Parts: sequence; C-alpha cells; structure tokens
Amino acid sequence: MMSKLVLVLNCGSSSLKFAVIDATSGDEYLSGLAECFNLEDARIKWKLDGNKGEAALGAGAAHTEALDYIVNTILASKPELAEQLVAIGHRIVHGGEKYTKSMLVTDEVVKGIEECSSLAPLHNPAHLIGIRAAQAAFGSLPQVVVFDTAFHQTMPKTAYAYAIPQKLYRDHGIRRYGMHGTSHLFVSQEAAKALGKEVSDTNVITCHLGNGGSVAAVRNGECVDTSMGLTPLEGLVMGTRSGDLDPAVIFYLVDSLGYSLEDVHNILHKESGLLGLSEKTNDCRGIEEGHAAGDEACTLALEVFCYRLAKYVASYTVPLKRVDAIIFTGGIGENSMLIREKVLEHLAIFGYEVDADKNAAARFGNEGVITKDGTPVAMVIPTNEEFVIASDALALI
Ligand code: ADP
Repeated sequence: MMSKLVLVLNCGSSSLKFAVIDATSGDEYLSGLAECFNLEDARIKWKLDGNKGEAALGAGAAHTEALDYIVNTILASKPELAEQLVAIGHRIVHGGEKYTKSMLVTDEVVKGIEECSSLAPLHNPAHLIGIRAAQAAFGSLPQVVVFDTAFHQTMPKTAYAYAIPQKLYRDHGIRRYGMHGTSHLFVSQEAAKALGKEVSDTNVITCHLGNGGSVAAVRNGECVDTSMGLTPLEGLVMGTRSGDLDPAVIFYLVDSLGYSLEDVHNILHKESGLLGLSEKTNDCRGIEEGHAAGDEACTLALEVFCYRLAKYVASYTVPLKRVDAIIFTGGIGENSMLIREKVLEHLAIFGYEVDADKNAAARFGNEGVITKDGTPVAMVIPTNEEFVIASDALALI
C-alpha cells in the first residue's frame, strides 16, 4: 500500500509544532513541540507511538537545531516512519491576497511568502526559516504550504474593506484578511456532514476559540466574513489580545500618557484580553475557577468574553440570512460548557436553548449538538488543522 504519511510543521517565531500524520485516516504517529528558541533553555517535547520524550536543544537553539533533532534523533529512532514520509506540510499564517489555496513550495512561492511578510512580521519569516531548514533536512521530499488566510479570500469587499482612504489598500494591502482559515474550513465541512447537507448548501457560524480566537460566517461552504482583520488583533476578546478597540485608545496612550509604541504593542497583544480583564490569567480554565470562587475580575473577564462573542455571532446572521448551525471549536470551544451556555443565552432571541446534558457530553474531543431538540442547532466539533494540512499536502503532490 502506498504510504500517506505527512510531516506537518508549524513554525512560530520562538517555537515549532510538529506532527507525523496519515493524510487519509488522520492517525497521528508523532506529535511534539520545540520551544524557547534562542534562549538558554531551548527544548523539545514529543510523543511517539504513545511514548513521551523530552530533551534540551542547547542554549540558543532554534528552528534548524529543532528540525535536526526531529530528523536525526526522533525520526531516526523509528526509520520505518521516516521512510514512509511522502511530503512536508507547513502552516503559513499570512498569504495576503496572493494565495487562495494551498501550494507546492517553489522558489516563486517562497518569494510570495516573503512578500507577505510585512503583514505578519513575526510569523512569515519564521515559516521561511522552517521551509529552508526542512529543504536542507529532507532534500527531495515535496513541501506544501497551507495558508491561514486562504479560506477567507472569498470574503466580499464589503466585508474586508476598512473605511479608510482606499489608497492605503491599493498601495499597501491594508484590509481585513482573517486567520484560523484551516480550522474554520475544517469544522464547517464537518458540520455539513453532521447536518447531512451538501457543503455547498450549508450556512454556519464557526467560533474558533483557543488562545487566539475568531468567528467566521460561512455561506454555502464559503467564508463571507470573519472577525480577525489585517492582523490577529481584531475581533474577539482573546487570551492576551484585546480584540476590537477604539483605535484612539492608542493615540491617547502614546500622545497623552507617554507610552511608547512598543509598550502599546505589548499591552494590546500580550497583556490584554482575559489576562487584562482578570488581572490573573489568560487561561480559560483559571478564569472559570476564579469565577466559581467568587473572583469578580474573573467574572468580568468571562462576561466580556461571552458578550463580545455573542454580538459577533448575532451580527453574522446578516450575511447568512439562514443559519444551519453555530459551531464551537478550539480549546475553549471544545471544552468550556460555561462559555457555550452563556453565549447561547445571549442569543436566546434566535431561539437557542442549551441542553445541559448534551452540553456536558460534548467535551474533551467529543463532537455533538448541545441545543435542545426542536430548537436551532449549536454544536461542538473538535478542530484538526494538522489533518487539513496533511490532506492538502497529499492532494498536491
Ligand atoms: P491554541 O490557540 O494555543 O492552539 P487551544 O486551542 O489549545 O490554544 O486553547 C487553549 C484554551 O483552551 C485555553 O484558554 C484553555 O484554558 C482552554 N481550555 C482547555 N481545556 C479547557 C477546559 N477543560 N475548560 C475550559 N477551557 C479549557
């Protein structure tokens, strides 16, 4: 039988997530994370056939050293796995307007990703380092890139245009792009299956809620709006990102309060969201624990998070007209019954009624409808971005 194993790489600026996946069955043979790049304690953790491993990569190690370790130590310990790899699939954060689908890596595609770097200055350069390191480590193995922005390229201009001088769009590409496209695509297609409908006749609102979060309006299988913008800062309340904000807050911080632009960048990306509101943690579990223990700041964080999310979901009834289901996914969407319940309570005007037992059952990787029979459907669908990357890679080689 021909092998269908794909090495999936997600290179961040200071970390690299990796997995070896069967692109047809979705079976995962290896998964891991290398992190703390360029620091003293750069390290790598992995799970191979259910066995966990961990190692230091050496002070200052980064992508090249991590890939070297994956190839020459982890995969070398199981040569039959390495021999079966047919492709490498890379997650790429920003494909600008250039990439509407996954692509085989060529010199031209590398150049294209480079050109989109100004739109994702932390991510795209890291992806390019990963591509080059993978080319060096795997020689002739074909490589495929899968863009986080691609699924959102079907958005109409009405949804993606910012109401600013359009010269800024024409000359510099300043518009809304959206992220988490692979996840929104995957769960919207799984939703069609679960609803027994054709993808081309399925309208869903997909809520991807992890450390970052975004909502997408998917009409007839195509994205028509999403909450992230030029960058992942726009939209929902996230773990440490503010989401929507009056842009004048930035001028006030800089002009009146004397903050530097770098300070403001850090505040809005790293100190805001659930962390900023709770003054305690960016982690949803910690927020829920605090709320249960009577911590008012955690309750505020929870309420603002749910209220903002519900408003986005409600607003996406505008482009959809008919909503077949609301989908929850990502670490929070797949696990937090409380957040799902609160969001759907805000949406009671549309008829949503949570079924407490079903809501409790759809957790920890279990898919399922969480609303009462005879009321509009909200459901949980665990996402699987690695699988999308692996199957796109297989389809392109
Ligand atoms: P990332 O965006 O980094 O991939 P995840 O999708 O793993 O993140 O989501 C991380 C979030 O999921 C965290 O806020 C975490 O608290 C939350 N989460 C994970 N498990 C639970 C749970 N059982 N209950 C509530 N929240 C959870």
